[in-house]
This record gives sequence, C-alpha cells and structure tokens, in this order.
Amino acid sequence: MTYSYTQMSNYLTCPRRYRHRYLDGWQEKDTRAAMLFGRAFEQALSAYFLREDAAGVLFREWSAYKDQQLHYSKGDTWDRMLQQGIQLLDRFCQDDRIRIRQSRRNLQIKFERPLAGKNDFVAYVDAIGKLDGTRCLIEWKTTSARYPEEPDGLLALDPQLVCYSWMTGISEVAQIVFVRKRLVEVQYLRTTITDEQRHEFGHLVADTIGRIESAQFLPHSGIRFPQNPCSMCPYIGLCLGKQELVDTRLVRRPGAENLGWLDELAY
Ligand code: SF4
Repeated sequence: MTYSYTQMSNYLTCPRRYRHRYLDGWQEKDTRAAMLFGRAFEQALSAYFLREDAAGVLFREWSAYKDQQLHYSKGDTWDRMLQQGIQLLDRFCQDDRIRIRQSRRNLQIKFERPLAGKNDFVAYVDAIGKLDGTRCLIEWKTTSARYPEEPDGLLALDPQLVCYSWMTGISEVAQIVFVRKRLVEVQYLRTTITDEQRHEFGHLVADTIGRIESAQFLPHSGIRFPQNPCSMCPYIGLCLGKQELVDTRLVRRPGAENLGWLDELAY
C-alpha cells in the first residue's frame, strides 16, 4: 500500500473519516473555489520559474472554472480571485526572494520511501530552492487569511513540513503563503526541522499504519461544543445518515483505495 501525508493527516484527524475516504471511496466534490484557485495559482508559479507568462497561465487555468457552479466563500468571486492572483504574482516577482535553479527538476518533485512490509510512502514537494540565499524545501500555500506567526517557532510544528523534511532529509523548510485579502500579501516563513522531529515522525507513520492495518476506525474527531469539528467535516452526512448532505458534498469512487496518494497532488 502507498501512503501519503494527506492519508496520514486524514487518519489522525478522525479514523472514521479515513475509512469513509480510503476504504469506502467517498470523495469531496471538486467544487471548492479556493482549492481550485490554489491549483491554478501553483501552475502560474511553475510558469514563472520556467520563464513563461505566469499571469497568462493563471488566466488560462482559472478560466477553466469560470462557468462552473463553484462554492465561493467570504464574498469571493471568480473575477476578484483572478485579480488577487495577478496582484500576488506581481508582488512575488517584485520581492524576488526565491531562487530555483534547474526549475524543471526542482518543482513538484516526487519522493518515495520504502516502509516495513510491502508499504511505501510518497510525497510531492512543491519546490527545492533558496529563500534569501538559504537552500530549503519550499511549500506554496494560497489562503484568504494570514498564517499565524506567533508564538515564535510555531512553524516548526507544522506536520506537513515535518513530514516532507522526514521524506527528503532536508532540515531547512519554508512556507510561502499567498494571502488573498483586500491588500494582498506574501508571507515568507522559514524554519528548521530537527533530527529528533524527523525520527519521531517516522514512529508516527509506523504507528498510524499499524492502526490502519488492524482496522481501527472508531470516530474520534473530538467534541468541543460549540465548535464541534464534525460540523466542518465533509463526511458528516455519512456519519449522521443524512443522504441529502451526502449528495451535496460527496461523490463515490469505489475501488480507489490504492490511489489515495493521488490526493497529495490535490492539496
Ligand atoms: S463527521 Fe465527525 S465523526 Fe464523522 S468522519 Fe467527520 S470528523 Fe469523523
């Protein structure tokens, strides 16, 4: 079985959610404008480093969704998101803080790692390059709100960065956050992942796979009224037995249990 960060993250968020997604084949419908915009924007970033027309690529990729019924949040519209994307690309070019040499090889890089049994782990790292002259592993993020930077050192606890550091052996990691707000902003966040964190993550992977293989799928998202995390979960219709909620948010693709790692490309 091939595992990915997204699979691990789903299991650790709620084992029942993992079962809905990876064993029973339920998937969230691809109608979230923010997620689709993020994919289009990453294509534009790749074009920028390949010395192509980044704004043109963003327009082309985002235009594919113009006439689709997407779910926009917080007053977003197709036009507004495009405009913010172009402004973010401009800001990023002006900042000129990221360098990626041999960009065809150092963007969307696939890493594979064999695990015990017949398992393996796969990760797609957005880029390896330099931030302000320091070589690091880079993840792009698009968001409508700034990422928190306090308390100092918070970024080193980001599980995805720890995972990718474990996969690549690279200690220096960065998140470049493209914030779509009224005045757009690019955050350049860098941190160092320690050997101990990578070692612990290896144990977490082994422990999680052990629980998956022994079919432990009890729901435990945590009950925290008034903010029950289940209310944000796309699988809530299945857990509540409400078909109309299932129909609104999910599609079923049975037999996809071995292709779960493909989710890695979607986030
Ligand atoms: S609705 Fe709650 S219990 Fe059900 S899968 Fe989602 S997080 Fe888990």
